[in-house]
Amino acid sequence: MDENIISSDMVRQTIGFHGHSCPGLAFGIRVAEQVLARFGSSRDEELVAVVENDMCAVDAIQFLTGCTFGKGNLLFLDYGKNAYTFYQRATGSGIRIVVRPEIGCLRDDRLKALLRKKAGPGLDADEEQLLAEHREQRRQRIMEAPADELFTLREVAGPVPRRARVMESLVCESCGEPVMESRSRRFFGRTLCIPCFDAVDNWHRG
Ligand SMILES: [Zn+2]
Ligand SMILES: [Zn+2]
Repeated sequence: MDENIISSDMVRQTIGFHGHSCPGLAFGIRVAEQVLARFGSSRDEELVAVVENDMCAVDAIQFLTGCTFGKGNLLFLDYGKNAYTFYQRATGSGIRIVVRPEIGCLRDDRLKALLRKKAGPGLDADEEQLLAEHREQRRQRIMEAPADELFTLREVAGPVPRRARVMESLVCESCGEPVMESRSRRFFGRTLCIPCFDAVDNWHRG
């Protein structure tokens, strides 16, 4: 972790934004470190991030790189991958950062068993403590490891994903709520929002 790129104070602020300190956030901080070193931060949307999960790391990426959901320069693809691509609008050049399997896949059977038990019958106090220690060790390792031990980084070429556009809103004829035209559905001549479309479609099939 290079303090000249992301200071310990910025790390503290990132943890404050996310609400807790965890291995996933640490990973996002290390990804952001690469991005800031290469492109600088993006207060005016010249940088676009494509994230392939919606987990803890994405909070660090939003907070530190300036690529945010609300500005439309953070796009989410629901691929379940710890992978991040950043494009610079001006040049069309980009980088793709992907977690290494050694880091991304849990290989410790005892830890796997603990996580399974936590999701099922739950853990006793000693087991909770053990799990917390594991997470803290993992978080520290991620913060301190050389970047190339954590992920692979390769150059990618555009096209740069398009800037968010303002869309006209229509009114759903079932619930009466406004919905972006691009997300509306037609059903037997009626304009519906996605949840109302899904409800009527399921009823129709069922
Ligand atoms: Zn977290
Ligand atoms: Zn509706």
